[in-house]
Amino acid sequence: STITLEAIKETIKTKSVELLHLQFVDIEGILKHVTVTAAQLEDVVEGKMMFDGSSIKGFSPINKSDLYLIPDLSTFAVLPWSVEEGYAEARFLCSAANPDGSLFEGDTRNVLKKTVERAANKGYTISVGPELEFFLFKADENGNPTFELGDNGGYFEPSPKDYGERVRLEIYKALKAMGLTIEASHHEVAEGQHEINFKYADALGAADLATTYKWVVKTIANQFGLHATFMPKPVFGINGSGMHVNMSFFKDGENLFFDENGKHQLSEQAYQFIAGVIDNVKSFVAVTNPLVNSYKRLVPGYEAPCYIAWSPSNRSALIRIPAKRGMATRVELRCPDPSANPYLAFAVIASAGLDGIEKKLTAPASIDEDIFHMSEEERFGLGIENLPGSLEAAVAELENAEIGIKTLGKHVYGEYVALKKAEWDSYRTAVHTWELVNYQSKF
Ligand code: GLU
Ligand code: MG
Ligand code: MG
Repeated sequence: STITLEAIKETIKTKSVELLHLQFVDIEGILKHVTVTAAQLEDVVEGKMMFDGSSIKGFSPINKSDLYLIPDLSTFAVLPWSVEEGYAEARFLCSAANPDGSLFEGDTRNVLKKTVERAANKGYTISVGPELEFFLFKADENGNPTFELGDNGGYFEPSPKDYGERVRLEIYKALKAMGLTIEASHHEVAEGQHEINFKYADALGAADLATTYKWVVKTIANQFGLHATFMPKPVFGINGSGMHVNMSFFKDGENLFFDENGKHQLSEQAYQFIAGVIDNVKSFVAVTNPLVNSYKRLVPGYEAPCYIAWSPSNRSALIRIPAKRGMATRVELRCPDPSANPYLAFAVIASAGLDGIEKKLTAPASIDEDIFHMSEEERFGLGIENLPGSLEAAVAELENAEIGIKTLGKHVYGEYVALKKAEWDSYRTAVHTWELVNYQSKF
């Protein structure tokens, strides 16, 4: 959506906006902001706000640390929870720029812009609808998370059992007040687990929405004495949290994936997109599933995928094609989780799909049986491969893959691989409770 500077000035006046938060994300998608007074709006809009890039994870080295924030006017929003009589706060999401005004290549928002551009050169717009699940845990009196879940409801369960429902309603109101179009909200399968869905948008807009959503969910949960987490598998033995990514390409206002006469009413390009994703998923899963913990969600039996296959309807497959057709035709990739940096995640998925279309790849046959119940030989016979089983394996795949440098750019690619290797090493050398439980008395 577009929003003019005039309209922003008007809102600042009528809502008595005193402070502006200039927000952006680091390489992990973690939100940062600097707060300035609304009196500085002109300077903000002209991109004159400087910050120290060397203090942001994955950004610039200490000897080239000065960076500038360029606000995206379309992301302007008054923060509903800040509003008092004669006082309010608002925010902008920003991109980082170099002192010479060029876009800083270490900013992941700029990385996604490159893929959006690549698609635009073919006349495509990338449409994305992410579904971010999260858990609510009780917080202690200091506001720190405990290991106690916020409720014990189950799939679609309403109040009063579901205390989370009240929190979800408040989150809904806040997101709506900030201009997001919310479509649905429900209790998820696991106790303490929730999901709120917003309307699909263009890739950059959707990544902005995902970023805003994570921040607002955490902020409102906190007001209720709860802690919201987007870590993918917080509790062993129950479902983890996914960020299914629904994607389609549009050309000249038409959904490129829909073909009335195609098999399953899908176009040739839809099959090529699927083929591109299947071809590249092992290489990019370190981006869509970035944590040590991500790989504890990708195990059989919890509605999360672990085998590389696609199907028109199968929830045990990596790729599903939701039943809707026409303008709503889309491919749902089920492996990503909400701890991913959405800018990077959407960039690698779209890039893989574009590769599939450009190289005219052929999708393998769909797999419509429950893959979780197949034997290894059956899967092998059907050519179904496994997703990488650990962050270590995933990073090794990313390291040798063309899609990494091509999509992330040299800067982010290098920083990302180094960061994830260090994360794995820290985990690998730690001694975990599991080891003590299984080995301490026995050996
Ligand atoms: N929570 C499941 C996952 O880990 C997904 C459940 C659903 O289909 O919405 O991906
Ligand atoms: Mg869900
Ligand atoms: Mg889904």
